[in-house]
Amino acid sequence: MQEIGTVPLCGKAEATQAVEAAFEAFKSWKKTTGKERAKILRKAFDLITQNQEKLARIMVMEQGKSILEARKEIEYSGAFLEWFAEEAKRIYGDIVPSIKTGQRLFTLKQPVGVVAAITPWNFPLAMIVRKVAPALAAGCTVVIKPSEETPYSALEFVKILEEAGLPKGVVNLVVGDAPAIGEVLTTHPDVAKFTFTGSTKIGKMLYGKCADTVKKVTLELGGNAPFIVYEDADLEKAVAGLTASKLRNGGQSCICANRVYVHEKIVDVFVSKLKTAFAQIKIGDGLNEQNDLGPMINKMAVTKINGLLDDAKQKGSEVLYTADISKLGNGCFVSPTIIINKAQDTQLEQDEIFGPIASIYTFKNDEEVMKRANGTRYGLASYFYTTSQSRIWEVAEELEYGLVGANDVTLSSEVASFGGIKESGIGREGGKNGIDEFLEDKFLGIDSK
Ligand code: ADP
Repeated sequence: MQEIGTVPLCGKAEATQAVEAAFEAFKSWKKTTGKERAKILRKAFDLITQNQEKLARIMVMEQGKSILEARKEIEYSGAFLEWFAEEAKRIYGDIVPSIKTGQRLFTLKQPVGVVAAITPWNFPLAMIVRKVAPALAAGCTVVIKPSEETPYSALEFVKILEEAGLPKGVVNLVVGDAPAIGEVLTTHPDVAKFTFTGSTKIGKMLYGKCADTVKKVTLELGGNAPFIVYEDADLEKAVAGLTASKLRNGGQSCICANRVYVHEKIVDVFVSKLKTAFAQIKIGDGLNEQNDLGPMINKMAVTKINGLLDDAKQKGSEVLYTADISKLGNGCFVSPTIIINKAQDTQLEQDEIFGPIASIYTFKNDEEVMKRANGTRYGLASYFYTTSQSRIWEVAEELEYGLVGANDVTLSSEVASFGGIKESGIGREGGKNGIDEFLEDKFLGIDSK
């Protein structure tokens, strides 16, 4: 590992200063027109697009993903700026027919106020843009706290917003002591909305802290996505889908397949095809154009993944595929791995793996697999493969998840309504309702008699 720079260690004082700056800036930003805000967001989209290569390289250096994936993340992030630039101009209220003669009724849509955002390291730019773009489009001002693992993508983004013409104080960034900054962002009375992406454990704790000042809250928390392969599935398609979902960002994504349920009649063929697909994956330095998979975020992540694998092996699980990574010497690499489980009480099935491990279970019938798929407190993403049209509808309706992919693993984009149910979160990001998370309804009655 190599030092790439240093950043300030901010704490309570700087976080408070940032909230005050955002509160002050809100007074004029909320009065701008949608068209004015759209112009700045559109300019930011152009700048992100023009700087794609520079931003991608920074991302690889701080986060480790492959340059191919980093470029895609920049594009994905830009798409949210473009989308919400368009949405900024279309914040409509309602005219409501009254029940009293002479009375006129309206619903006005107004920005909530100062938004505080805490984001994780796995998608260091996208997770920020997904929150900041709709907040700005709605007329809110923002304080961002990125992950301490990946502050540089966040810093570059703020510079781009400044260059795009965003007035001072509208977006503020605080890097440093997470608990100290988090305390301010969740308890300061001038923060109207708190939006968080990260682990379920930290998200729940911060949600509790928001109660005292009754903040509007959006939470994008952990997942434990089932990936079901029915006996009538197109296996080529299912293998390609699993490989893409499982290995994207080295499996460090809250929507990646975590539990793979394969019908017992087809499991041998499926595993054989999956081995072939995994064997094509090139692992190494993310900056090398040839590599598909970079290192994990840090050594702690590797230790956690190895612990889950050890637990499964002790309970009788069998490793069917792993690559030789002995020459990749910094201790942060994990090989793409295929493991088949016999026991149902493995930690691999219950926890978010956050690594490139395809953890397979077999099943005998639809009822059994649905029970296992839904048998978790998580409810973010789910996937299944079948060629039966009737099963597509039945299974899609039965799965208790915010996102369902039927023969499809590409669910996340600016047009999607992204978010979880159960303990995976509250609220949605993106899509046609994404901007509503940053708006309040104000009901206006006028007696004109
Ligand atoms: P991950 O496992 O993805 O790192 P975390 O929930 O630990 O998930 O981190 C997500 C974000 O939450 C990061 O920005 C991190 O700094 C922040 N965070 C972690 N602990 C706290 C805390 N006690 N208070 C406020 N923010 C926190």
